[in-house]
Amino acid sequence: MLKKISFAGPSITQKEIDYVVDATKNGWYETYNIHIKKLEKAVTSYLGVKFGIATQNCTLALHLATATLGLRDTDEVICTDFSWVATAYAISYTGAKPVFVDIDPDSWCIDPQAIKKAITSKTKAIMLVHSFGHPAQMDEIMDIAKEYNLRVIEDAAPSLGSEFKGQKTGTFGDIGCFSFHGAKIAVSGEGGIFVTNDEGIYKKASLLASMGRTDSKAVFWSDMLGYKYTIANLTAALALAQVERIDELVAKKREIFSWYYERLKDVQGLKIIKEKKDCKSNYCYPSILLQDSLSVSRDEVLEKLKALNIECRPGFPRMSRFPVFEARFPNHEAEKVEKWGISLPSALNLTREDADFVCDSLLEIIE
Ligand SMILES: *Cc1c(COP(=O)(O)O)cnc(C)c1O
Repeated sequence: MLKKISFAGPSITQKEIDYVVDATKNGWYETYNIHIKKLEKAVTSYLGVKFGIATQNCTLALHLATATLGLRDTDEVICTDFSWVATAYAISYTGAKPVFVDIDPDSWCIDPQAIKKAITSKTKAIMLVHSFGHPAQMDEIMDIAKEYNLRVIEDAAPSLGSEFKGQKTGTFGDIGCFSFHGAKIAVSGEGGIFVTNDEGIYKKASLLASMGRTDSKAVFWSDMLGYKYTIANLTAALALAQVERIDELVAKKREIFSWYYERLKDVQGLKIIKEKKDCKSNYCYPSILLQDSLSVSRDEVLEKLKALNIECRPGFPRMSRFPVFEARFPNHEAEKVEKWGISLPSALNLTREDADFVCDSLLEIIE
């Protein structure tokens, strides 16, 4: 039986175990939320932002973002067509309409020029994704937002540790959201965090995340329709241990990418997606684009790799094709990645031998 090469998975050490045991024993009574407070502090000081609210997952952090900005059913939000559907659903939960636009073929992040073309009188915000850990072009995006007076939400779910021009992703827009899902770089199984530099946004989001509760007029008083989105202390303890190791985790992901890059950079018939100028990627999901001139289809490649116990992922289907949405633009670059994109295994237990086996197998299949 060939060794299983997992697509994603964490690095867990004694530190994580100790923090979880500590939370189990001590995260009650007057210290019932101590690990949550520590997690929010650790993430905000790492990113260099003022405020953080840890949530049960990133999908909820994204909904908290769209709800806090007061989006509603007459509004449009310009959104990348290439992402996990949580990005767009977070817009739809408010009644606002996601308008899906194309991606930059070199980073698979939203194309700033496509944003410009999609702006209408109804546009209220831009929802971008730092796709697979690659930073979006934040200077151009923030310039457009300023010019047209649009809010910016960064779906930074997989990009903890990535940087654009030396500034951490998730800290450019009005709100940034990160995930600690088990398949991300720093994990707690389920978990996420909402960050902002704006005190007004932070205050409103805090109310919304905890049932609108203020205790201002009475104990158990609620001031607005709210949600129960805050994280569990036990979960926060695990996330905290991971965040304290983020530099090590980013270094490992970048090392994994370098193994693939070395082997695949000059191969005919595929393109490996590399960080662009001025960008530092955490390479959460190292990815390639096969050329449509190959004699095998992308799905055949995936099946053959799976038969060798190598777990890869196909590119996301364009969300604009989903039954709940509608397409306004064809988005040909996103279509190419949908058809020909592959994310390679980058679990944090991956070895150099594993990466070589993945490359050997891939090259044999596409030859
Ligand atoms: C993982 C991911 C999410 C969702 O995160 P959860 O914590 O699983 O809710 C949202 N957007 C993107 C781009 C993601 O990769």
